[in-house]
Amino acid sequence: MITVKFGGTSLADAQRIRHAADIIRANPDRRFVVVSAPGKRFPEDTKITDHLIRFQASGDPRDFQPVEERFEEIIRELDISLDLSADYDEMKNEPHNADYMASCGEYLSARIMAAYLGWPFVDTEFCVFFDEKGRLDRRRTNNTLQEKLGSLEHAVLPGYYGAMPDGQVHTFSRGGSDISGALVAAAMGADTYENWTDVDGMLTADPRIVPTATTIPAITYAELEEMAYQGATVLHEEAVRPAWDAGIPIHIRNTFRPEADGTWIRSENIVRDNPVTGVAGRKGFSILHIEKEKMNAMVGYVRKTLSCLERHHVAFEHMATGLSSFSLVVSTASLADCRETLEWEIQQEVDPDALTISDGFAMIAVVGCGMIDRPGIAGKLFSALGDIGANVRMIDQGGSQMSIVLGVTEDCYEDSVQAIYDRFFINMNVL
Ligand code: ASP
Repeated sequence: MITVKFGGTSLADAQRIRHAADIIRANPDRRFVVVSAPGKRFPEDTKITDHLIRFQASGDPRDFQPVEERFEEIIRELDISLDLSADYDEMKNEPHNADYMASCGEYLSARIMAAYLGWPFVDTEFCVFFDEKGRLDRRRTNNTLQEKLGSLEHAVLPGYYGAMPDGQVHTFSRGGSDISGALVAAAMGADTYENWTDVDGMLTADPRIVPTATTIPAITYAELEEMAYQGATVLHEEAVRPAWDAGIPIHIRNTFRPEADGTWIRSENIVRDNPVTGVAGRKGFSILHIEKEKMNAMVGYVRKTLSCLERHHVAFEHMATGLSSFSLVVSTASLADCRETLEWEIQQEVDPDALTISDGFAMIAVVGCGMIDRPGIAGKLFSALGDIGANVRMIDQGGSQMSIVLGVTEDCYEDSVQAIYDRFFINMNVL
């Protein structure tokens, strides 16, 4: 049994919905379908979810108009009889919270797909649950999905949302239909979770930086999670866990090129010649550097510093420690409202010899489960960066030894990614 999820670009208009339905019908094992809201039909187009968010902010009915028009056009062109006017009226005229409004695109999209396929519509509002803090309640969600879907041969469900304990609609973060698809796959014990999108799969590097990047045929959940966290965005990073825990392979596929092999994501170690699976990265980091003589012999010094960050809800992404100094990598955005206070509090709390916060860093992750038992990887990596004169400000080899994360200045981010890529994927034999 296969659970499928179609992303917004794959469902942007009637022709694409028809095509997605053909894919669904082409394999009788594709029994449960999770859909996103219609996305962009062309690069300058606006996603339905963005129209809805704009309408919620403005309250101006003219901002709802494009939503209604797009869905009505889809219904007309699909030639189905479906009257959504009561739903539009409720969305437009009743007071709602922001999450409810953002979720409407998925709701309408699933109603349409269900009508077109002639399959039952099952609303995730009554199957996916969050706790009072907005965290997913996996157990309740799993049990309810099994209960509601267990007796059905087929179903179409909207992605992206569920309900809070008080019944209010609550959404995942953007792109969250991927998570809904993984939850349905896990609950139904699917053999595969097919995630249909608009690219061939996970790429070895960001194609905007490395135009020759290729599709990764197979990747482990752990590698993918690492790549996604470092900025490679083929799948919502929170979609990995439910599938991983249930041992369900995820197959990323391109709706517009169904003949392509896509990327398989699974748990077994994958044997490849190349120890590196991919290179990912992001800009927008700051390095908070603290010096204190004989810090290594002091107890609780780092903890006290971290407690200052905690008070301001600043998470640190990486930490490098030395004898008399340590550096924390944090996202620059997280410092926006607290930089001066934080500096002052750290001064008071731990009295450092020096404290600096420097902006403008990018973090690059070189990911590969095959790196663990291969000597020479770090040597190759630093020689590639040395050759282009990139100054590496921070190094973190994760405990799992599945990734090496480097901090470089943003101005040499793209060149560094390209140089690493060339060394590991093009000129593999150069030392
Ligand atoms: N429609 C939502 C978004 O645009 C959720 C999704 O597509 O997964 O982010």
